[in-house]
Amino acid sequence: MLKISTDTKVAVVGLGKSGRSAIRFCRGLGAAVVLSESGRVDTETAAWLHGLGVLRYEDGGHSLDFLRCADLVLVSPGVPHYLPVLQKLRQSGVTVAGELALAPAHLRTPVIAVTGTNGKTTVTTLIGDLLRAAGQKVFVGGNIGTPLTDYLAGPQDSQWLVLEVSSFQLDLAGEFTPQIGVLLNISPDHLDRYRDLGDYVRTKMRLFTGQGAGDTAIINYDDERQQTFAAGELNCQARKLYFGHNLPRLAGADIVGRQVHCGSASFALSGSLARSPNLENAAAAILAARTAGCLPAAIKQGLADFQALPHRMTLVAEIAGVSYIDDSKATNIGAVAAALAAIDGPVILIGGGRDKGGDYGLLAESVRGKVKTMLLIGEAADRMAQAFASLTNVEMAASLAGAVSRAAAISRRGDSVLLSPACASFDMFTGYVQRGEAFQRYVAALG
Ligand code: ADP
Repeated sequence: MLKISTDTKVAVVGLGKSGRSAIRFCRGLGAAVVLSESGRVDTETAAWLHGLGVLRYEDGGHSLDFLRCADLVLVSPGVPHYLPVLQKLRQSGVTVAGELALAPAHLRTPVIAVTGTNGKTTVTTLIGDLLRAAGQKVFVGGNIGTPLTDYLAGPQDSQWLVLEVSSFQLDLAGEFTPQIGVLLNISPDHLDRYRDLGDYVRTKMRLFTGQGAGDTAIINYDDERQQTFAAGELNCQARKLYFGHNLPRLAGADIVGRQVHCGSASFALSGSLARSPNLENAAAAILAARTAGCLPAAIKQGLADFQALPHRMTLVAEIAGVSYIDDSKATNIGAVAAALAAIDGPVILIGGGRDKGGDYGLLAESVRGKVKTMLLIGEAADRMAQAFASLTNVEMAASLAGAVSRAAAISRRGDSVLLSPACASFDMFTGYVQRGEAFQRYVAALG
């Protein structure tokens, strides 16, 4: 078990929000800390580091010589775990871990951990809301918002910790096991970083592997890959609960129309939660909240009050009978498939951006007959055009602004113009938020 003490020599890799928090936490426990950062450390940051007693740092890259003097190399979630220097450190016997690996020794609060290819932020936020509605004191964080080490450094006075956990964090999670683990879905993503899909699935299932008899694994019944894994390779002692459609006498949350039946309670969903994929997300969240002891009445209140998160299937405007939908957060194939399935009627799809190595061919069935024109932008445009040219009308656009005005020109009453890019945004934007905001501005200008 990884324990930080005054004897530990820690090298923190990456000075984002998590890196800063990790430094504060480790210094608070009296450990010797150094920092390795790929960008430049400016004078203000250098002074901050000095004030905390971090006396050595390297910037502009991560070097083996600098890092190998540490007992523990603590990697921030944004730093790719497959960096050659990290592999070499492991080979030379240095422990390489992420913040989750600190939980077994330092955390005193039970954890609900949420992972999956898509829906993590929505479900993590919703579970937090449901628990709060039930009067519980909750800390919501991890991959979103506040880093885990912030909580570890504080009074740890919440009843539950709800953590969004990415696959990169699971790769470096050491002996971390949640009391309640929620695995939403697995579809191809990050294949630029994993050897193959099997490798990615194994990483996600890692959420459950250390769980004991008192723990709960919440599994998506509709996701074949999870089912197969849960029935075979998954070796865990936890109680297994399922969410999905038409559960065959399995314990869990059964989705029927817009209702979720969970044990003897039923929950009628409305607003943004009444449509797929949020319907499935809500079922998972309800199950987690029931497992954590929340009463149905409180859960109903929490569901009714839930505010949908921006840039996830957000209706921006309806202009001349055409709906403009911002799904900028859809950076992989699974999210785009879910978006297309949720829309009735013809779609003009704006896609493209930075390619993540996915197989666009997997979208063929979703695109055929539904997408009447695909407008492509960014680095992935050529590869996507090759994949979709035989299925739909494909056009290239020089910019997102150009794609929006072209979509407006060719759309007819009853169409939806959907920004659901299947790609990361970093070739043209600082992130999905900037991309979504730009889309909203261009749409507003049409009006
Ligand atoms: P994450 O944190 O996993 O990226 P988000 O809640 O931020 O998940 O949603 C990311 C994208 O995935 C959005 O485009 C959203 O519409 C879509 N999405 C949300 N839930 C699901 C789901 N259960 N299955 C497929 N796509 C989903």
